[in-house]
Amino acid sequence: MEQRNNKPVVHLISKPDNMLKTIYTACRTCYSADYPINIYESVDDEEKMLKLIKRVIGSGHYSTIEHIQVSFAISNVSRACTHQLVRHRHMSFSQKSQRYVKEKGQFDYIIPPTIDKNPELREKFINFMAQVSDQYQEFVDAGIPAEDARFVLPNAAASSLVTSLNLRELIHLANLRLCTRAQYEIRMMVKAMCDALTAEEPWLKDYLVPKCERLGFCDEDKSCGRKITQAELFAKAGI
Ligand SMILES: Cc1cc2nc3c(=O)[nH]c(=O)nc-3n(C[C@H](O)[C@H](O)[C@H](O)COP(=O)(O)OP(=O)(O)OC[C@H]3O[C@@H](n4cnc5c(N)ncnc54)[C@H](O)[C@@H]3O)c2cc1C
Repeated sequence: MEQRNNKPVVHLISKPDNMLKTIYTACRTCYSADYPINIYESVDDEEKMLKLIKRVIGSGHYSTIEHIQVSFAISNVSRACTHQLVRHRHMSFSQKSQRYVKEKGQFDYIIPPTIDKNPELREKFINFMAQVSDQYQEFVDAGIPAEDARFVLPNAAASSLVTSLNLRELIHLANLRLCTRAQYEIRMMVKAMCDALTAEEPWLKDYLVPKCERLGFCDEDKSCGRKITQAELFAKAGI
């Protein structure tokens, strides 16, 4: 049986080395008579920086973490997944174009696990992708531009992109897309983005979590049961 890797491939390609110092300087500047450059150049104590940073983030003063920009190189994700990602308006994207890049032979595609684990349905899925590929190729061979031939390509077609975002938006993205209500593939992709960053910046683990972890309750209509729902919480408090 053909083996496919249906997992997103995610690499952190850029992050500032002086992340903590930058955020600390932004936070401290708000409460200090000193010049920001003096604050930046005089601080080196990680524990001291983290103490203030966590207090400031905890009180919702999020502009301080907008100074940190990170970039990821992502591949092996479906267009269904990237379509959801690009809904986030504070992210920057450079995605492989289906206009400029003509598919040659069978295009890469992602098989969702629910179909992948069922041999009969998996075979149907693969056969269908082959049919789509043949049709796409027929259009291209007939001189149809790739930007029009691509109209037959499915949501399953694999894509690649580079994306950049600031830390505030990454926390927001994680809070929404690590929630079990999010689609499985974007959840895997965002988890891989968070893991890549927390491997280098472990202090971010407390923030790059599903929103219920930060809220202390679930505000979704249908809860997975991980946390008490908002309605249950209100009922408990007699509100
Ligand atoms: C589980 C799940 C299911 C979803 N289902 C659907 C669906 O069925 N259909 C659908 O169309 N979408 C759906 N979405 C996408 C969703 O509606 C949002 O478009 C997407 O999650 C981006 O979130 P956002 O707007 O909070 O974030 P971002 O675009 O990343 O913006 C971050 C924050 O900036 C602020 N902001 C940004 N732009 C504006 C603005 N113009 N005005 C005011 N404030 C702004 C908001 O506070 C926002 O939360 C779904 C998302 C999730 C997580």
